[in-house]
Parts: sequence; C-alpha cells; structure tokens
Amino acid sequence: MITRPTPKPWIAKIHPYAPGKSTAADGRALVKLSANENPLGTSPAAIAALETHRQDASAYPDPDAKELRAKIAAIHGLDPARIVCGTGSGELLTCAVQSLAGPGDEVVFSRYSFSLYPLLAHKVGATPVFAPDTDLAASVDGLLASVTSRTKVVLLDNPNNPVGSFLGADEVARLHAGLPKDVLLVVDQAYAEYLAAGVDDGGLALAQAHENVLVSRTLSKAYGLAAERIGWATGAPHLIDLINRLRGPFNVTASGQKAALAGLEDQQFVEDSRDHNSAERARFSDAISALGNHGISAVPSEANFVLVRFDGSVTAGAALDALAKAGYAVRHLPSQGLPNALRITIGKTEDMDRVIAELQKLCG
Ligand code: PMP
Repeated sequence: MITRPTPKPWIAKIHPYAPGKSTAADGRALVKLSANENPLGTSPAAIAALETHRQDASAYPDPDAKELRAKIAAIHGLDPARIVCGTGSGELLTCAVQSLAGPGDEVVFSRYSFSLYPLLAHKVGATPVFAPDTDLAASVDGLLASVTSRTKVVLLDNPNNPVGSFLGADEVARLHAGLPKDVLLVVDQAYAEYLAAGVDDGGLALAQAHENVLVSRTLSKAYGLAAERIGWATGAPHLIDLINRLRGPFNVTASGQKAALAGLEDQQFVEDSRDHNSAERARFSDAISALGNHGISAVPSEANFVLVRFDGSVTAGAALDALAKAGYAVRHLPSQGLPNALRITIGKTEDMDRVIAELQKLCG
C-alpha cells in the first residue's frame, strides 16, 4: 500500500549539498577556512548600500536585474542582453543543466571538480560522468575522451575547486573545439578574480563567439558577497533565454542587487582581495612545501584556497582534528575521493600563521 508520495528515483540518489563547516563536533564556533569566503569581508561600499536599502523591504526587486546587468556588461565589455543574474552562480548552473539534460543523458566534468556538479546531473535524472584527470587537474584529453553521443553538458570549473588548478586559454579553446556543436561547455569562473592580472582562460570570448559556451561568475568570492547570493552568466541569446525560462522569478533580492552594484563599483576591494590572497597563498604554500619530508605538500593553486596533501605519517584526518582543536574549520573531502587531502581557504594573515604553526607542530 502506498502511504506517502514517491520521489523520482534519481532524486532519491541525491545527497543534499554539503557546505563547508563552521562548528566543531562539540558545537564550538570555528574560524571558517572551509567555504572559500573572503577573509577581507565585504566592500565597505557594498555594506553601506545594504544598510541604506534595509529601510524598506516591501517591494519586489527588479525581476530582470537590469541595472546590475548593465553594470556587469560595462565592466566586462559584454552585451547586457546576453547576461542573466542568479541566486548565486549555483542557480544558473542548475538551470543550464536542467535546460539541456534529462534521464538517459550525460553531464561530464573532471574527476575532481566542484561537488555540486554530480548533484546537478542527478537532479534532472542525467548521469554524472567523472572524466580522468592529470595529477588531480582537469585534462582536456580526459574530458574529450569522456564525451559520448549522450553527453549534453561539459562543466569546467576554472580555476578548479577543490584542486586550484587552471587551464589556460589554449587548452579551453582546444576543449571547445573538440566538442560536438550540440554539447554545451560551461566555463565556471567562480574564482577568476583571483587569477594574476592579465591571465584569462578565454571563456568570455568563446561565449561571445559560439552558440554552445556559457560562462558563469559569482560575487560570492572576491566580492565578498556570498551572503547575498549573486551570480551571473553570459552566453548566446538562446542560452540566456533558456535560463530565463527556468530561473526563479525575482531571483536576485533587492538588497542583493544594490549591494552588487556598489560592490562592482569598488574594484579596489577586489584588487585588495586578490593581492592579499596571492601574498598569503604564496607564503602558505611555501610553508607547506617546507614540510615535504613529512609527506605534506601543497598543490599549486590559482584560487583562494590550497589543497594540502598528506602522504606521510601525518594523516589528513589528524590535521583536520588538530586544526579544529586550534579553532579552524577546513575542508576534508573523502567523499570526493580525496581522503588524504584538506582544502584550506586562504584566510587572514594571523589565521594562516596559526594554521601553519599547527601543521608544523604535528610534524614534531
Ligand atoms: N562554482 C564553483 C567552482 C564554486 O566553488 C562555487 C562555490 N563554492 C560556486 C560555483 C557557486 O557559488 P555561488 O552559488 O555562491 O555563486
């Protein structure tokens, strides 16, 4: 006898997205180096915009985020008609996959990629396909070899989460050139602002020139606006139209639109965030490399986190516990096939000092 609603079998397969933790097992609040948030906080201009706005919340926001799209277009030299904003870039990735893939179809991404990607496939009953990597990083050959006649979408996070690796413009162009025209390539540039000045994976140019490339960006990282949930995507008009059909109505809040506009105006904050990140990431990576004789190593990163590998007597689990005791939450990713690694977000200087000291202590 049926006693309750029955979920679609593919929905039953989904494990809810597991975000980075901010509390210890005993409930203590931890400094969160587990969600790739901005240790500099939020642009003061964006905070001021939020404060002014919070006087009255009775009206629905602009459903099409027109002003925000115009600002994004101006900054990146894009056509606002080819931009759509979302409740974080996560919403836009969800819509992109939903618009093209369903039961029997395949969604391809590199073996070690953003943990949301398999969920995006499962949500629509499609099969997630984990493409072979090269030393943890995305491999164009591995991705292309994984494409079949059932593939509808290829997702590339560039820089990659959780590895921090980056594919240059030549490689991204080679990936695109190798794909059938009816396969969508999504270049997820969530961490693009952390790339060294002048470094570009060519995704935006590809998205302007081709019908099967979508680029997604977020204000959650370098703009320090994760709480407001603002992302955007750009691509050919037919792709933007598909996402507009599927996204939520009024999907970017009024306060979010205001904060994003102010945040986008404050490019100095983004530059400061990048500079802080580059300096601390180099310092942290060097300190980790000095622990090489204990089997601990830092994977070179272009993002705002570093994947630290534990291949000696100090295990990732022991380091995770020691850091939690010291007051820090970092990301252990055994469920993503990385039981011997921790992804550590680049935080404030004093926090990185403490994390380095704790890892050194573990090595005796
Ligand atoms: N893409 C990648 C690669 C990410 O790491 C994240 C956040 N962890 C996102 C997209 C989604 O970010 P948001 O929804 O906050 O824009």
